[in-house]
Amino acid sequence: MSAGVRIRNLHKTYGGREVLRGIDLDLPAGSVTAIIGPSGSGKSTLLRCINHLERPDAGYVEVGGEVIGYRVDGDRLRERSPREIARQRARIGMVFQQFNLFGHRTAAQNIMEGQLAAGIPSTTARATATRLLARVGLEGRDGAYPAHLSGGQQQRVAIARALATDPALILFDEPTSALDPELVGEVLAVIKELATTGITMAIVTHEIGFAREVADQLVFIDEGRVAAIGAPDEVLDHSANDRARAFVAAVL
Ligand code: ADP
Ligand code: MG
Repeated sequence: MSAGVRIRNLHKTYGGREVLRGIDLDLPAGSVTAIIGPSGSGKSTLLRCINHLERPDAGYVEVGGEVIGYRVDGDRLRERSPREIARQRARIGMVFQQFNLFGHRTAAQNIMEGQLAAGIPSTTARATATRLLARVGLEGRDGAYPAHLSGGQQQRVAIARALATDPALILFDEPTSALDPELVGEVLAVIKELATTGITMAIVTHEIGFAREVADQLVFIDEGRVAAIGAPDEVLDHSANDRARAFVAAVL
């Protein structure tokens, strides 16, 4: 089941520098949100706060109606136990720019890892890995090590891994930015197919054409704030925000 996300008044400061300055954002259940914005504007920090890889300084993120990383105690938020945070994270898939596969593990072992940690028996985990590899177009590559796969294939393994715990939400942080241009299409095709399945998705990307085609909403983040949000065509073609227009003109 896909889950909606509510982000309210999210703040994050690193060493006195406020990187997120009060983000309010909704990702409706089953929708695809593309996130664009200049380098350093806080896009990765925002995604990392959603699955509590970063701890916000103020504000909160709710996934499927549950506050991530915290338990509501009266009018205070208290941090959850590592075990509870792990349970919440298992519902949130994450795909990184640099794939982040374990180099000394096979494709199937990389996909099994999170499942085993979640207590799923290894025969089931292995069957899921095989099924998901086929789904991302890597049928029969269970035993391949990352070094023997192209960047596009590695990223597809990483997508399969993100799907392995049957998440309600999947976050992509510039999934094609590290790829050679000829390998971008195969990864975007997998993400596009995924977008039709009704899983909630957020994707930070500079692929404006892809965002226009696939996203239900497009968010322009600038200096730690949501500077523009709306239907992709609206934001890309008619944004009232000068910096959004200038950014889009520069990346197109
Ligand atoms: P984007 O993904 O939009 O390029 P980031 O969220 O990665 O931006 O970073 C926003 C700002 O926060 C940058 O100035 C970056 O240097 C800083 N930053 C990100 N992570 C950390 C960290 N762990 N420690 C200190 N500064 C950080
Ligand atoms: Mg980033």
